[in-house]
Amino acid sequence: MSNHKNDLASMSVRQLIARRRALAARLADVQEVLSGSLAEQARRCSKAGCRCATGEGHGPYSYFTPRAGGRGRSRYVPSGLVEVVRRYLQHGEAAEAVLAEISAVNAELLARRELR
Ligand SMILES: [Zn+2]
Repeated sequence: MSNHKNDLASMSVRQLIARRRALAARLADVQEVLSGSLAEQARRCSKAGCRCATGEGHGPYSYFTPRAGGRGRSRYVPSGLVEVVRRYLQHGEAAEAVLAEISAVNAELLARRELR
């Protein structure tokens, strides 16, 4: 994504619309998206005399935290789902970047009174 505002400003309306179409085509699969973060954390249990009370905790385990704006509560992610969550997060970031680019194209079209 190396396009800056200047790149858009130097494009013709036809090029802008073609660029918008190409960007939208990259949003082919918008079902597999997640917004938030995945983090590993060690946890302490409540068993009396467990090594975790003084040393390192158990795990690390993976937790997903939704993007702030939701409740923001972290949820445990079973190890078998970590790669799936990672993939969804990557798709989500890519989709947001594409939407931002389409929005920039549309802002340029608006500036030229060519938005319809
Ligand atoms: Zn423990």
